[in-house]
Amino acid sequence: MNDPLIMGIVNVTPDSFSDGGAFHTPDEAVSHALRLVEAGADIIDVGGESTRPGYTPLDADDELLRILAVVMALTSRGICVSVDTRHEETARVALDAGATYINRIFHLYDAQGDIAAIDPGFGYVDTYEEDLALWASLDELARGEYPLMVGVSRKRFVGRISGIADPVDRDEASAQLALAAVLHGASIVRVHNVVLTKHYLDTFAESPNIIAYIALGSNLGDRDGYLKRAVEHINALPATSVVAQSRVIETAAQYVTEQPDFLNAVIRVQTKLPLFAFFTELQAIEVVMGRVKEYDKGPRTIDLDLLIYGDSTYTTPELTVPHPLMHERDFVMRPLEEVILS
Ligand code: ADP
Ligand code: MG
Repeated sequence: MNDPLIMGIVNVTPDSFSDGGAFHTPDEAVSHALRLVEAGADIIDVGGESTRPGYTPLDADDELLRILAVVMALTSRGICVSVDTRHEETARVALDAGATYINRIFHLYDAQGDIAAIDPGFGYVDTYEEDLALWASLDELARGEYPLMVGVSRKRFVGRISGIADPVDRDEASAQLALAAVLHGASIVRVHNVVLTKHYLDTFAESPNIIAYIALGSNLGDRDGYLKRAVEHINALPATSVVAQSRVIETAAQYVTEQPDFLNAVIRVQTKLPLFAFFTELQAIEVVMGRVKEYDKGPRTIDLDLLIYGDSTYTTPELTVPHPLMHERDFVMRPLEEVILS
């Protein structure tokens, strides 16, 4: 694992989507920033304009009024500051006040205006599937010319993965995804909760291997090829290996019966990825393997269902483990029994 930088988010705004304006006065923003530095943040990202959907745009003057004192209070203490802004003027004044970086949606820039991190822009695409496709491209982005910055903290993407509606309750899931981003090669993770993020990064090396079981299904195109490639994708995940595999069985479609027969299998996996991170990876593999959902329980190139993840239980519509329907699915239980006994 590379040694990542943690960027702590400080909003000086009354309407930010993720903290409900909890730190909206400059004084409160400064104390919050100092706590984040204490907790291990390497960079503080100061923002005055909320960019949540339907946000109220702010002109550069009002934005500066909100953030300048905060930027100066931090830079004068020798803290590395980035400023989250879309205004040229704000950027210029912030750099004069000692800020090191300018954070725009998509990239982080240094004082010379050169790209200092490339940011794939989670949350600025339209759909969950597009966020997953970005997630699946992290390895490639990390191998690119610029250091990779990943910011998913408290975003809708994390809400969809975890089934947690309130952004402030998404820190655990956000920290798990920050860890996974680092394992994919991210150099900077932008987060709200520095303590939890640092905890996941610091304890990763000693964290135990979790045994998980995954059901695979395919009933479109080269079904056997899809199953094989899905296993390869899973085996290539960070800190993860496929340790046992059932035979492949052919079954008639359950639920919506007017569709091609399935090939099904179950694998046992050993992983150090925490639950939300691991589930994100499975969802991202479905997307890169061309799964398109035309209707519920319809045909698919690949279906990856997380049956069991250690002894964890978790229950939301977006993610339930153990998988709530496995016992009624013969096409899951037969290969599962085989692989458990193997
Ligand atoms: P199915 O696998 O039952 O045919 P889908 O693959 O379309 O159905 O999944 C429907 C939803 O189930 C997904 O959007 C996913 O968020 C949710 N889900 C809940 N728990 C799990 C789980 N353990 N594994 C996979 N998907 C799950
Ligand atoms: Mg599924």
